[in-house]
Amino acid sequence: MTKVVERKPLSLVERTYLPSIIGGFQVTWKHFARSVFKGKPVTMEYPEEKWVVPEGYRGAPYLVKDQEGDTKCVSCQLCEFICPPKAIKITPPGPDGPPADRANAEKMPREFEINMLRCIFCGLCQEVCPEEAIFLQRDYSLTGTSREAMVYNKEKLLELGGIHGGIQKWKQKLEEAREQESFPPNPS
Ligand code: SF4
Ligand code: SF4
Repeated sequence: MTKVVERKPLSLVERTYLPSIIGGFQVTWKHFARSVFKGKPVTMEYPEEKWVVPEGYRGAPYLVKDQEGDTKCVSCQLCEFICPPKAIKITPPGPDGPPADRANAEKMPREFEINMLRCIFCGLCQEVCPEEAIFLQRDYSLTGTSREAMVYNKEKLLELGGIHGGIQKWKQKLEEAREQESFPPNPS
C-alpha cells in the first residue's frame, strides 16, 4: 500500500528561511558560550587528545577466541547473510578444508574477511552469531595505506579480537527476557 505524505506549504516567514537561520545561530552561540565562558570546548585536539570511548560503544567487529584460545566461529555464515553492506566474506572449509580447532565444533571457516571500508558498525553480525564468535570492540580509528589493507583477514580479526571468556550473550538475553513482562499477560 502506498502512503502519500502530505507536504505542508511553507508560510511566508518560513519561506524567508529566517527561523532556520536563527535556530542555527542559536546552536552555534550555545556551544560558543559554553566553550568561552564555561571552559568546556566541544572539540578536542585529536589525535594527541584521545576520546574516552563510552561503555557499550559499537566499534569495529573482530572475531574472538574461547578461553582455550580456539576459534569460536563455526562458519555458519549467518553474519555474512545478515550484514547490510555485504562487508563480510566467508570461505567455508569445504570437504578438504582444515578441521575445527576445538571439540564439539563441526567446522571453522577457511577464510573470513571483513571489509572495514564497507562496515557500518551496526552490530547485526554480533547479534545474529549463535557462537558468540564476533564482537564489536572499541576500535574506531582504523587506518590503512590501501583499500586492500582495509580488508581484514581471519588471522588479523582473531588477533585483534583476542580471547574472550566472559562474554555470555545468551545468559544476558535470558535475564533480560525474564525481566520483561510476559505477553500476553498471565491471567490472574
Ligand atoms: S557491524 Fe554490521 S556492517 Fe559491520 S560487519 Fe557486522 S553486520 Fe556487517
Ligand atoms: S562469526 Fe558467528 S555468525 Fe559468523 S560465521 Fe562465525 S559462527 Fe556464524
